[in-house]
Amino acid sequence: MSEFFLFVYLLEIGNISLLTTFVREFCGIGSFVDMDIPQELIDDKSMVFTFGPTGFFGYSPAGPPSGRSLLWWSNWETPAVPDRTAIDTADIKRQLIERHGTWADPIIQDILQNVTVDSIYPIWTTPDLPHWGETGAVLIGDAAHALQPTTGQGSSQALEDSQTLALLLAHYLPRAEDPNDELTTADAIKLTAKGLYEIRRPRVARIKARGRTLDKTKKSVNIVLEYSLYAFMWLLTNVPALGKLALRKVSLRSFADYGRQTGSW
Ligand SMILES: Cc1cc2nc3c(=O)[nH]c(=O)nc-3n(C[C@H](O)[C@H](O)[C@H](O)COP(=O)(O)OP(=O)(O)OC[C@H]3O[C@@H](n4cnc5c(N)ncnc54)[C@H](O)[C@@H]3O)c2cc1C
Repeated sequence: MSEFFLFVYLLEIGNISLLTTFVREFCGIGSFVDMDIPQELIDDKSMVFTFGPTGFFGYSPAGPPSGRSLLWWSNWETPAVPDRTAIDTADIKRQLIERHGTWADPIIQDILQNVTVDSIYPIWTTPDLPHWGETGAVLIGDAAHALQPTTGQGSSQALEDSQTLALLLAHYLPRAEDPNDELTTADAIKLTAKGLYEIRRPRVARIKARGRTLDKTKKSVNIVLEYSLYAFMWLLTNVPALGKLALRKVSLRSFADYGRQTGSW
């Protein structure tokens, strides 16, 4: 998979400077379009994802059931970063039609007819960081690990981080306040940041790796890969047990396991 290292970002946490890069592999466009929405789509509250030979297209009713607002989006792999301040809207719409104009879904065709494209969204992920905090500053959520949207896990992982952070603080801070314990507040924060990284990082890394595999399904592919992809999608939806096996479970290392393994509690 090709990756584009777009810019270098200097992140300072305490006295540690992390020279890191943000990685972009895809661009996205999307908006809300005012149009007739088929009743079955409204009744199902469907979010429709279509994977095809030239990329990925998604849409979903966006407003109340009586509304006409349809959310749509299309992702594609880009060889260069488009300049967001000077986008050629006509060219982007032309490319959109080039990618999806022959797709069979009539709703996609309606959307293509109705939309005006006026913005694009480069999609960024963060590379693995060597830690998520030191000397009083702690990173959680996207600040620590911006994931690919394909994973659908950004919010969940941010929430799991915050819960783990709260549990670690609740464990270490009372020790720092105990006059009979030698642990200082600085030590408590340091151990919290270390524990957070050790508990959470392996799970996030595996979700990110799985996202990379899924991202391949959003690229332009040849006919063999295209039909392999359809077979995989069929498997996922019709034989869920096999689908789950193919995607592999991403285990959750719990706060309790960490405490037992490190002898912390
Ligand atoms: C198009 C798109 C689709 C997505 N779809 C999904 C999905 O289906 N499922 C899913 O789980 N996740 C999804 N995500 C990812 C999810 O939105 C993020 O992973 C999640 O919001 C991360 O939460 P966070 O609290 O770490 O960061 P954020 O939600 O980005 O919160 C950071 C907050 O800090 C504020 N802030 C920034 N700088 C400062 C400052 N200097 N001072 C004060 N405040 C500041 C920002 O305004 C923001 O409110 C999607 C993301 C995008 C962009």
